[in-house]
Amino acid sequence: MSAPLDLTAARTALEAEARRLRAELGEPIEAPGQMTYGSQASAASQVFAQQRDLALRDHEKVQLRRVLEALGRIDAGSFGRCVTCGLPIATERLEAIPWAATCIDCARAAPR
Ligand SMILES: [Zn+2]
Repeated sequence: MSAPLDLTAARTALEAEARRLRAELGEPIEAPGQMTYGSQASAASQVFAQQRDLALRDHEKVQLRRVLEALGRIDAGSFGRCVTCGLPIATERLEAIPWAATCIDCARAAPR
């Protein structure tokens, strides 16, 4: 038998994560910088670094949405239930990943 779900702790963890993500997303993307380097190669790696930053921000936006949805589920009283199958999500899973929307079985079954 697993421990009862601590909604207060989950909310605290989710709010901290939302704050962290908002702070990171609020930071401006690093400017391309002065064109002091001459070679094509360094220009290309600069573009690559920018694309990587943008990909990271996309990931953070998705993550922030997950966190906000989880907070919404706390308010709606459905937190801790799998959004796919409706069964309770294991407490250990929610403690590790408070924004988890699905149980481990559905997460494994979901296409990546
Ligand atoms: Zn499920």
